Amino acid sequence: MDAFLLDYSLTRGEVILEFGYLIAAVCFIIGLKLLSNPVRARKGNTFAAGGMFLAVIVTIVFHKDSTGAGIASANSIIIVVTISLGIIAGGILARKVRMTEMPQLVSFFNATGGAASALVALIEYSNPANLSPLVTLLSLVIGSIAFSGSIIAYFKLDGKVGDISFSFMKYINSLFLLVILAFVMIMLTGDYGSGMDQILVYTLLFISLIYGVLFVIPIGGADMPVVISLLNSFTGIAAALAGFIYQNQAMILGGIFVGSAGTILTVLMCRAMNRSLLNVIMGAFGGTGQSGGNEPGAQIKEITASDAAVLLSYSGKVVIVPGYGLAVAQAQHECQEMVRLLEEKGIEVRYAIHPVAGRMPGHMNVLLAEAEVPYEKLVEMDTINPELKNTDVVVVIGANDVVNPAAEEDPSSPIFGMPIIRAHEARNIIVMKRGMGLGYAAIENSLFYHEKSRMFFGNARDSIRKLIVEIKVL
Ligand code: NDP
Repeated sequence: MDAFLLDYSLTRGEVILEFGYLIAAVCFIIGLKLLSNPVRARKGNTFAAGGMFLAVIVTIVFHKDSTGAGIASANSIIIVVTISLGIIAGGILARKVRMTEMPQLVSFFNATGGAASALVALIEYSNPANLSPLVTLLSLVIGSIAFSGSIIAYFKLDGKVGDISFSFMKYINSLFLLVILAFVMIMLTGDYGSGMDQILVYTLLFISLIYGVLFVIPIGGADMPVVISLLNSFTGIAAALAGFIYQNQAMILGGIFVGSAGTILTVLMCRAMNRSLLNVIMGAFGGTGQSGGNEPGAQIKEITASDAAVLLSYSGKVVIVPGYGLAVAQAQHECQEMVRLLEEKGIEVRYAIHPVAGRMPGHMNVLLAEAEVPYEKLVEMDTINPELKNTDVVVVIGANDVVNPAAEEDPSSPIFGMPIIRAHEARNIIVMKRGMGLGYAAIENSLFYHEKSRMFFGNARDSIRKLIVEIKVL
């Protein structure tokens, strides 16, 4: 057996290492495939995590450097201890985080991925054995932008940082990009390994970090979803580039999967938000306008639980538009219970899913899958919109921006151009929210003042419970 292996100049350890990476890659692919369906997503996560675990273990045990030496036992201990600490911290964080804080957690994870790649690049740039300075510099730049951009995204999603935008911001951002490019060119053509090189590499790191901040900070309106998925793809690309530095297949593959998944998601999000990718990269969109308001003197009309229950119970077609407020209230189970009661009365009920409802891509799908809403009941925006004219009641539960007519009617609105669920076209509209609070884009919503709208104020969970009681007695 050994003789056979030696014919191919591979030791037994190298074969196991390569084989381990191959199995890890297969696990990543199966994991990704399973993740495309909310019901199997948990299994997909376990597969992908198992693949990564295997890749890490075979690397620690079987990796050899160019001199044939394995990882020193002291380093192995450090690796195992730090990974264990990371697993414990990650486990605690994931368990404690509330569903509505998931987007912040995702941003935080993006930041750590970007930071790890940037640090690998920073260390390896000065390694005389490193033969790929271009790849290293790209990993440094993209990793740093992903890190600082994701930290800003974290604070913006958490409401701790607002949108800071000036009209000349896109020129500043373009200038920063040019400076970064110039630095990379100078460093590639300069005296590699000199003291000057060290100063340049730290300056490049600093400039890239600043660019990450400047790139995310002006983005406002309702455009954050695009940026989050773009930063996610940056993290993957930076990790893949770091993998090239070490010629490590598992890192390259893992990074490419994350990078390409993030890029596909970015393109889909851009389409959903009606934005071009170039605008995103230049940080040229967003805005803090306060438009989208109602007619002066317009009044809202309220509805009681019993009236809402009558309206719903005597309808033929009902469409529910879930939004971020449904996730805040954790009312998905109550919502599905209400739907079940209406269906028992012979009413056709479906959910209208906007691509950026909630605070992360697929937020509503995940939320409703948790309440075991059958997948075929979730109808995408483009499919449901033409049907809304023939819908008796649209029930907007904790959604705001995704049903704001200003996106179609008010060119001065920061969300102008974003496709919406056209709730205003239905025959009747019931809006469930706690008060007249604004949505993520922080703009008024004329839908609430629409002649067909009735406001049902209260925490969505309590309101739906009241509705359930009333529907049951009808
Ligand atoms: P919005 O953030 O526009 O509105 C949510 C509404 O829910 C608020 O107006 C609030 O009003 C209400 N609400 C909050 N808590 C409760 C509660 N407990 N019970 C009832 N209502 C409640 O949500 P949408 O889903 O309509 O839009 C998502 C927005 O987030 C878009 O602008 C999108 O671009 C952005 N975004 C999306 C991301 C994604 O990937 N999906 C990522 C980042 C941002 P009140 O306070 O009066 O109750």
